[in-house]
Amino acid sequence: MRNFEYARPDTEAEALEFLADHQGQTAVLAGGTDLMNLLRADLVQPKRVVDLKPISSLREITAMDGGVKIGALVTLTELARDPMLADYRSLIDVVDGVRAVQVQSAGTIGGDLCHLPNCWYFRNGYGLLGIDGAESLVSEGDNRYHAILGNQGPAKFVNASRFAPSAIAWNAKVRIIGPAPDQAEWVPLEYFYITPKTNGQGNTILKPGQLVSHVWLPDPGVLTSATYEVLQMQGLDWPLASASATLDIENGLVREARIVMGHVAPVPWVAQEAARFLLGNPVNDDTAGRAADMAVARATPLSMNEYKVQLARTAVKRAVLKAAGQWEGVNLP
Ligand SMILES: Cc1cc2nc3c(=O)[nH]c(=O)nc-3n(C[C@H](O)[C@H](O)[C@H](O)COP(=O)(O)OP(=O)(O)OC[C@H]3O[C@@H](n4cnc5c(N)ncnc54)[C@H](O)[C@@H]3O)c2cc1C
Repeated sequence: MRNFEYARPDTEAEALEFLADHQGQTAVLAGGTDLMNLLRADLVQPKRVVDLKPISSLREITAMDGGVKIGALVTLTELARDPMLADYRSLIDVVDGVRAVQVQSAGTIGGDLCHLPNCWYFRNGYGLLGIDGAESLVSEGDNRYHAILGNQGPAKFVNASRFAPSAIAWNAKVRIIGPAPDQAEWVPLEYFYITPKTNGQGNTILKPGQLVSHVWLPDPGVLTSATYEVLQMQGLDWPLASASATLDIENGLVREARIVMGHVAPVPWVAQEAARFLLGNPVNDDTAGRAADMAVARATPLSMNEYKVQLARTAVKRAVLKAAGQWEGVNLP
């Protein structure tokens, strides 16, 4: 591992000052469960690492604007235990799916949302696009875990965040602060992620010197929600495909629906047509299945990941049924 300066700010403003030095060649440390791997593998080379943990404002869960504001340092365990979040079932489903108590207690929501892709070409030093010279290692090589949607350009990795699909299905916003100490902006989480066209572009809109300070979720009201993740292992594992649904069902008919898929595209994938189809319909095996068909209708699988289309379809169908209280199964493959 290369040497770096280590900074422990006490406030958000101090953190931004530390991040602004070294022309933005700095990194944010939250739970550290992934950043330490990235540093060890030399995939990030910051001159300074800024440890957010002492900043108390980033640990709070408070009511705000009729919804809930969650600090970026809130851990997975704290999320699942807080009574203010009990009605956001799709988020709790995600915590339940991370089957390692160590990760649940150390991993943070901010770290999950900003988690860099697990693509093995990226993790072996070939950049986010997995390119060696002019050749796409992903197109030509082992792409079994790669994108089946939104993969027409050079980016073919899948977004790694487990919480983003559920949070986006709740119309969540993120508060981005920096690079100036007084700069802060709330952005819909849906627009936080980007599909890069070059290796240097990153996969979020965060610029050097910025960080995510909070996530905001609207009041759940009468909405119900669920996440269904297709996992290969029963222990700690990344989903092969996942889906989150948020529904408003009145008198047996869907009045409002949001469906977002995870681990199928370089960004969390909003399944608009599928959600629109459910409006005015009851949720049952047939309608959930038809919505799931629509969610994957435009899939363009790569040479080795055709199987993911069926997994994504199943995830959508079961997330919709689960959100409507009609799925009794457990989150196992
Ligand atoms: C061995 C191991 C295996 C794991 N396997 C899995 C797995 O199979 N499935 C799974 O779901 N999880 C897994 N994880 C955990 C995963 O890394 C965490 O769940 C979580 O996503 C990271 O949270 P963190 O707070 O530790 O992030 P960190 O490691 O501190 O940060 C992750 C990234 O986000 C950036 N970052 C962090 N916070 C912010 C912020 N507020 N603003 C801007 N950028 C930020 C960091 O700079 C870094 O690039 C694993 C962890 C370990 C150690």
